[in-house]
Amino acid sequence: MSEPTLFERIAQGDIPADIVYQDDRVTAFHDIAPQAPVHILVVPNRAIATVHDAQPGDEALLGHLLLTAGAIARDLGLDTSGYRLIVNNGPDAGQEVFHLHVHILAGRALGPIVQPPG
Ligand code: 5GP
Repeated sequence: MSEPTLFERIAQGDIPADIVYQDDRVTAFHDIAPQAPVHILVVPNRAIATVHDAQPGDEALLGHLLLTAGAIARDLGLDTSGYRLIVNNGPDAGQEVFHLHVHILAGRALGPIVQPPG
């Protein structure tokens, strides 16, 4: 059995976090180092390292993850002002925590999707 990931430990309540939503499949909590006025992470309760580690049997879970992100955004009133969902995968994307997660970023104009080169 592998060590639980950081986000599994948060979902299990072993590491404190400011949780905004939880059910039997996903957990959402505020990012510890917010990059925007709203910065929430939505994670599956069990670890899937990246999108490309997900299996066909994870289809419903991944759909629930995205629907949950949308529901949280709507509950926060972000559906009119807008928000960005980001899923980083691997080194070039700067993925730090290898437990699939959706960033919800909002609360200001977020600028370009990626920094221009140079
Ligand atoms: P990634 O770069 O992997 O897409 O994003 C990982 C995110 O997890 C980062 O935005 C980082 O600030 C956040 N993070 C890392 N450690 C913790 C933690 O212990 N608690 C919370 N709430 N967020 C964390």
